[in-house]
Amino acid sequence: MKDINLSGIAAELERFASERDWGQFHSPKNLAMALSGEAGELLEIFQWLTTAESEQEALSEEQFGFVEEELADILIYAIRIADRLGIDLADGIDRKIATNAKKYPIEEAKGNATKYNKRKK
Ligand SMILES: [Mg+2]
Repeated sequence: MKDINLSGIAAELERFASERDWGQFHSPKNLAMALSGEAGELLEIFQWLTTAESEQEALSEEQFGFVEEELADILIYAIRIADRLGIDLADGIDRKIATNAKKYPIEEAKGNATKYNKRKK
């Protein structure tokens, strides 16, 4: 996986929208709704597949291409929302990973998928 340049992508998306006068449609609300729609499109690809059928080696080339497209759509909207709200997404991701590490310490979470707030103390 290549590293991605979030600020470069945000600038490219801003230019893309601006050239089409789409900024007027890109409120954070509308972008969040669009992101949810794209997440639904991703789910649709996997809907009705068994767990094994959803693995990389079992997907057809066409299915794989659709997954790639929907993941890109989701990330594009996430980057666009962050840009419109002035959120530094790279910092946000770093903070979220650190938060998750605290919520799910290895000694409590290893091999255990229970959500942190449902864990028995
Ligand atoms: Mg899509």
